[in-house]
Amino acid sequence: DAAQHSPLLKNLNPEQLAAVTAAAEPALILAGAGSGKTRVLTTRIAWLLQTGQVSPGGVMAVTFTNKAAKEMLTRLSTMLPFNVRGMWIGTFHGLCNRFLRAHWKLAHLPQAFQILDASDTTSAVKRVIKAMNLDEERFVPKQVGWFIAGCKEDAQRPGDVVAHDEQTRKLVEIYANYEDQCQREGVVDFAELMLRSYELLRDNPAVREHYQARFRHILVDEFQDTNKLQYAWLKMFAPPGSGSGQSLLAVGDDDQSIYAFRGARVGNMADFEREYRVKKVIKLEQNYRSFGHILDAANELISRNTQRLGKTLRTDAGQGDPIRVHEAPSDFAEAQWLIEEIQSLHRGGLDRQEIAILYRSNAQSRVIESALFNSGIPYRVYGGLRFFERAEVKHALAYLRLLENPNDDTSFLRVVNFPTRGIGAKTLENLQDAAKATGRSLYQSVSAIPGKGGANLVAFTNLIDSTRNLTQGMTLREIIEQVLETSGLLEFYRTDKDGAERLENLDELINAAEAFVMQEGFGKNAVGLPVDEVAPTLTAAGAPGAVPDAETGEIMSPLVAFLTHASLEAGDNQAQAGQDAVQLMTVHSAKGLEFDAVFITGLEEGLFPHENAMSDHDGLEEERRLMYVAITRARKKLSISFCQTRMLHGQTRYNVKSRFFDELPETSLKWLTPRNQGFGSGFAREYQQAWERGSGLKGMVGAGRVADRGQRAAWVEPPVPASMKQKVSEEHGGLRVGKGVFHTKFGEGVLLTLEGTGADARAQVNFGRHGTKWLALSVAKLTPID
Ligand code: ATP
Ligand code: MG
Repeated sequence: DAAQHSPLLKNLNPEQLAAVTAAAEPALILAGAGSGKTRVLTTRIAWLLQTGQVSPGGVMAVTFTNKAAKEMLTRLSTMLPFNVRGMWIGTFHGLCNRFLRAHWKLAHLPQAFQILDASDTTSAVKRVIKAMNLDEERFVPKQVGWFIAGCKEDAQRPGDVVAHDEQTRKLVEIYANYEDQCQREGVVDFAELMLRSYELLRDNPAVREHYQARFRHILVDEFQDTNKLQYAWLKMFAPPGSGSGQSLLAVGDDDQSIYAFRGARVGNMADFEREYRVKKVIKLEQNYRSFGHILDAANELISRNTQRLGKTLRTDAGQGDPIRVHEAPSDFAEAQWLIEEIQSLHRGGLDRQEIAILYRSNAQSRVIESALFNSGIPYRVYGGLRFFERAEVKHALAYLRLLENPNDDTSFLRVVNFPTRGIGAKTLENLQDAAKATGRSLYQSVSAIPGKGGANLVAFTNLIDSTRNLTQGMTLREIIEQVLETSGLLEFYRTDKDGAERLENLDELINAAEAFVMQEGFGKNAVGLPVDEVAPTLTAAGAPGAVPDAETGEIMSPLVAFLTHASLEAGDNQAQAGQDAVQLMTVHSAKGLEFDAVFITGLEEGLFPHENAMSDHDGLEEERRLMYVAITRARKKLSISFCQTRMLHGQTRYNVKSRFFDELPETSLKWLTPRNQGFGSGFAREYQQAWERGSGLKGMVGAGRVADRGQRAAWVEPPVPASMKQKVSEEHGGLRVGKGVFHTKFGEGVLLTLEGTGADARAQVNFGRHGTKWLALSVAKLTPID
């Protein structure tokens, strides 16, 4: 029939076509990278809409990153003749936010509730720990934060957690107090967005039924990385076995599951298949993304993993170029090499945005960024130290948040004395005590503080109140300009000696707000959805708290919407919007994306695979999946590199190349530097000589990075090429693998590996809190403990 001949469908293979046009019932697509899973998902949405099987309001599509969600909207907007912006397409967090904005009353939240990002969350937890007079060494705020997030992801409120020991009991107590604090301040963290909307659906049949009736088609990309709560949340929208005729399409690849460390359950795929009685699992085996060498490398690497559901991938594209391998003496030299490669690719006609530089850890980006910056190559960083996380930007946002919600204590504390207003630590302590005693916010408690300190606090709240009055009816841009002025931030940075860059960032904040307003189309009905699409049943069912969201015409003010955007989105302001820029990101945030040319950098033992994951089997398999994700991002050209030395966290590390090199097919690799140079060559030889002279590295490294001798003595990984690595013995001077050791600086640890002999002997030790380290046994004195 006509629908089958839609131009949308003409570039699909038979399996893809079947998946796109499948009947409305639960389905699972399980297929490898680049096989067109996301394309099928997007095309299916377009096809359903085009053939009138569903209206735009009846579709919900979930994906993992903001970038992926944007890409999906972009792809859709090219296929459909109407504005797709207001459709329920987004990340889990983004959709939960939208949901809670619409039901803030039922969710027991203030209408302008604010979202805590990762660092806000840690500082909020820290305040609770402090208020409870607990030891921050025993209750490390960040770790307590993980505990709380973990509980929430298991849908456990403090009362649900079973604590068997004193430590856990205390953690639960912190969790409970943290919840009270957030509630009082009208803020939610990321995990809370999910849990709160899940509970709302679970506890309100009217709301649940409304959404079940509304969403006829639910589609989830990257399903392998959903956690327990996300899956439970999905089930609220489309319960299994309800016979409601809803269609739920889950799309995933077990080999790309890379968030187990954050609670992702690859087992959700099997559960989904069983619980929804999926009749047929759709497999796609043709890869459309990459040339042969790239695919061969990916296939060979991932075949080393034992925990796999098993899939195959082939391509008709031909072998293409082999994978280029570069060994650099230092991270600085690696960055220089990247610059040369990028310039040559660009001269060869490749757009910069088709070039991606990937790394395992955010900390690696700094050196690469500065090299790009110095050579004037525009670039954009995704994730990592994001624009909205910079201190000056956070200060400005805190003032803006206080305008909307003065009870937001996190924001209050951030700026109450910034710029300085003579409000000291003691005054703030008294204020916090007073607030605690009455269960009110800091803002509400200022009048309880006597003396000069109290007067200064009142002056601060007056400043906030008067700015709020002053900005009534202003545009978002005007509001921000006003706040920057009246808060004293501009004045402060104008007189600060390092203020120039910070002023630029504040300017950029105004630009970001401007761009945001244009993009979201405030004031217009951006979506064009009929109003009755959203909440008629709700009102009828007597849920007056339900306020329609942006979709139907605005309940969120532009300021609240912008603050939300700032909390949820990675800023990408290094390059101007629309400028052709090289893309920098971690491998995690590259999931689902593709580029003509990809560079995977820092392939060194301890970095990739990451040292935290190296000591256990599951951890290593996850690192390998991560490498699989990295490789399969490349369409045409893939390059991989590693460095003999690297500055990381203020220390010089001496590296061994990643084990992943040994797991790639030799025939697909092209070494740009001679292999296995060992101590006979360049840097390594120099290093060896310097070491023997005992003169350290001062002035030696061409790249200009000089190791501090004191630090070097503390822990050293000698530049031993893997080819020279030997596993000589399980025992060395009484040390035994698997047994305890003692180190004067790092304390007790467990010996993981012993390698090399004589002056070259080295050990890998897990020191718990201090992490896993490589130690040169000729330098570090390790004593065995029984
Ligand atoms: P990943 O697992 O990395 O998320 P994926 O399975 O989602 O990959 P897509 O991103 O949907 O794969 O597709 C990979 C590339 O192949 C895209 O550029 C897509 O447009 C292209 N592609 C998919 N199917 C076809 C097809 N039938 N004909 C031509 N190109 C296709
Ligand atoms: Mg995809």
